[in-house]
Amino acid sequence: MSSPQIQLIGLDRAELDDAMRSVGVPENQISMRRSQLWNWMYVRGESDFDQMLNLSKDLRSTLSQRCSASRPEIVTEQISRDGTRKWLIRFEPSVPGGQSVEVETVYIPESDRGTLCVSSQVGCSLTCTFCHTGTQKMVRNLTAGEILAQVLVARDRLADFPGQVADPRTIAPRDGKKVSNIVMMGMGEPLLNFENVKKALLIALDDDGLGFSRRRITLSTSGVVPAIYRTGEEIGVGLAISLHAVKDELRNILVPINRKYPIAELLEACRVYPGVSNTRRITFEYVMLDGVNDSIADARGLVQMLSDIPAKVNLIPFNPWPGSEYECSSRKTIDRFASYLNKHGYVSPVRTPRGQDIMAACGQLKSASEKVAKQKNLIEIDS
Ligand code: SAH
Ligand code: SF4
Repeated sequence: MSSPQIQLIGLDRAELDDAMRSVGVPENQISMRRSQLWNWMYVRGESDFDQMLNLSKDLRSTLSQRCSASRPEIVTEQISRDGTRKWLIRFEPSVPGGQSVEVETVYIPESDRGTLCVSSQVGCSLTCTFCHTGTQKMVRNLTAGEILAQVLVARDRLADFPGQVADPRTIAPRDGKKVSNIVMMGMGEPLLNFENVKKALLIALDDDGLGFSRRRITLSTSGVVPAIYRTGEEIGVGLAISLHAVKDELRNILVPINRKYPIAELLEACRVYPGVSNTRRITFEYVMLDGVNDSIADARGLVQMLSDIPAKVNLIPFNPWPGSEYECSSRKTIDRFASYLNKHGYVSPVRTPRGQDIMAACGQLKSASEKVAKQKNLIEIDS
């Protein structure tokens, strides 16, 4: 029986060196070959070893037989009227005999940036009461390669690697890269899959590869406090906190991990987060739930709570899902809440729901999408 192929996407440099050793690359060539491969995979987006023409013919053929830099299967691609795209991506089993899994990845183009919302887990083990993903059982962590593959798939589909030509439906930022920003805000709690998320993000940040800047990657967490410290020290990307309530009593219900790491501990981790300043603020996400957390007293509590942290607030209108027990606050209530924050010095944009026709908004990912997939106005591509 032939040995299984080694997937090279998601390996760090040392692991890539080992992979090459294992297929017989001589020691004195390892460093050069690793740089070449890294460039092909992450700068040029090439997945076919036969096209990597500066590798020797023998090496190209060995790599084709023994290794893979291929992409996962795109099950569906949906394109919203506003240019938002959502991909359902299938990953093969991560261990022999395991099951294949599916996750969703969303691309949100704006005039000055294109943001990719990346998933870190299949399902989520936490049970925030307003979140659809929280009602699904946790299936498994994604590997570093699977997290990165979402970025590569998006770049492929948007023709964001050198020399690729975009299809005419693509809506993208005016200048620069089509995927300019990454937010770890898809399915799952990234800080409960710390090692794989860290590995994937360090590869995404690598200057000789994908080359994202730390300012253009944001990790959102429901508040896994010990891992927030590690994120600051070991990854250094922007931080977003899913706050949603200003009192422990309410937050214990909305975001149950609060019982383990209460608000005071969460805020302390934010206060000392490395590199935070007035030009590099922590984002506090706050979902607007009708009659639950949307009073002026809540807004006042929020202002007081954030007074000693360089912060911005992101108000998210609640996105309902079948069976959810909450409703979204009225536009008037949201505006009143936002203007209180603005008056007290907080930039607090209300997040405009994007890709609503394709169920691509926060907290809606995965299961409910099947129902609307066949509606008109959607372009659905089976790849
Ligand atoms: N697990 C991480 C990241 C994924 S969720 C976290 O919780 O931060 C991304 C954001 O969407 C979080 O702020 C989350 O609280 C919010 N969210 C979840 N369900 C939502 C819903 N139904 N409507 C609006 N926002 C929601
Ligand atoms: Fe998990 Fe985040 Fe949803 Fe909470 S809000 S259940 S942490 S994905």
